[in-house]
Amino acid sequence: MTSRAKSEQLFAEALKCIPGGVNSPVRAFRAVGGQPFFVNKAKGARVWDVDGNAYIDYVGTWGPAILGHAHPKIIKAVRAAAQDGTSFGIPNPFEVTLAKMICAWVPSVQKVRMCNSGTEATMSAIRLARGFTKRDKIIKFDGCYHGHADSLLVKAGSGALTFGNPDSAGVPAAFTQHTIVLPFNDPEAVAAAFEANKGQVAGIIVEPVPGNAGLYLPKAGYLEFLREIATANGALLLFDEVMTGFRLAKGGAQERFGITPDLSCFGKVIGGGLPVGAFGGRAEIMDCLAPVGPVYQAGTLSGNPVAMAAGIAALEELAASDAYVKLEQLGAALEAGMKDAAKATGVPVQFNRCGSMFCSYFTSEPVHNVADAMKSDRDRFKKYFHGMLAEGIYLAPSQFEAGFLSAAHTPADIKRTVKAAAKVMKAL
Ligand SMILES: *Cc1c(COP(=O)(O)O)cnc(C)c1O
Repeated sequence: MTSRAKSEQLFAEALKCIPGGVNSPVRAFRAVGGQPFFVNKAKGARVWDVDGNAYIDYVGTWGPAILGHAHPKIIKAVRAAAQDGTSFGIPNPFEVTLAKMICAWVPSVQKVRMCNSGTEATMSAIRLARGFTKRDKIIKFDGCYHGHADSLLVKAGSGALTFGNPDSAGVPAAFTQHTIVLPFNDPEAVAAAFEANKGQVAGIIVEPVPGNAGLYLPKAGYLEFLREIATANGALLLFDEVMTGFRLAKGGAQERFGITPDLSCFGKVIGGGLPVGAFGGRAEIMDCLAPVGPVYQAGTLSGNPVAMAAGIAALEELAASDAYVKLEQLGAALEAGMKDAAKATGVPVQFNRCGSMFCSYFTSEPVHNVADAMKSDRDRFKKYFHGMLAEGIYLAPSQFEAGFLSAAHTPADIKRTVKAAAKVMKAL
């Protein structure tokens, strides 16, 4: 039996001084029962807890660790930057370098503004879309998570969905009255919403590949449809690529699916593990931001030199290595292995995957949206999660989160994972 005595001690102390013992809800393991372990070291595809147990990690700090943990080039860049000062509050050269890289990798982005989290990116992009179009309403999709800004915390995914409060307390109804929530992968619902709100919709915000209610893919033609209907109605199309950006391809989901959004939001991978967010798009829209235009947005630590240096190092390494090819191969191997394991054990599993993102739903029916995802047997997921953890494999502690591969995972890691899954599923 694995000892987690030190983690238990820390969690008991944390519960006294941090709400729920954690600084972000899903970390608390409440959806799966039990207690979180505390990590004090991560390297490559492994994390180690304070009791010295090692795990193959498929959480990847919830997306950023695409190169694996503590990549030497990122560590070196962070050290070098910190040596020269951790924050200046006036422009620094790293900001220009990273902005140029983002614009080059994501052609729909002509100008980009840096911020400190994905939440800030989506919150600001929505404000910008409203300011630019001079309209108030936005369309979002049930189960999509766009961070925790008030107007977007309606039928949200991630922890909000996991804990059964997709509509948070503390958000006045007046703050969300301009948010129209629709089912994902349902073109008629979008057409009807535009019909009912003629000339009032500022934009559609969407995770092009929703990864905050597990993982499901857009049906063929759906993203193209969103692009067309937004344009036809003078509304903007906002891709929230905080999770998919720089992960599903160099140019994110928009490159993979060949769609050009008006605005895009980033986070996670672009910070190389440091707190970074960004939003960008067409120059004429971005120039509505202060100090050029009337839409206010700011940040004391935005464009922070240490964070920018980490992001630059991460993107440079992604460009210089065969990371995307490797992620695709690892993803395909994991998918094949997991599907075989499910078949051999007779456990109904829908293994959804897009590149290096994946999710195992315990249901016999295909999952295309959050309503389908809700049919998953969550008691089975709990047992699966704890079974895998006991095998030294760390998956996200909720049915409604995506798993992430990194370029540091190896075919041997995949083999071990699939073998463990087969063993754990047999006992479900
Ligand atoms: C994680 C995430 C966010 C929020 O980013 P934070 O950095 O946690 O604020 C927004 N949108 C999507 C799609 C995400 O996955």
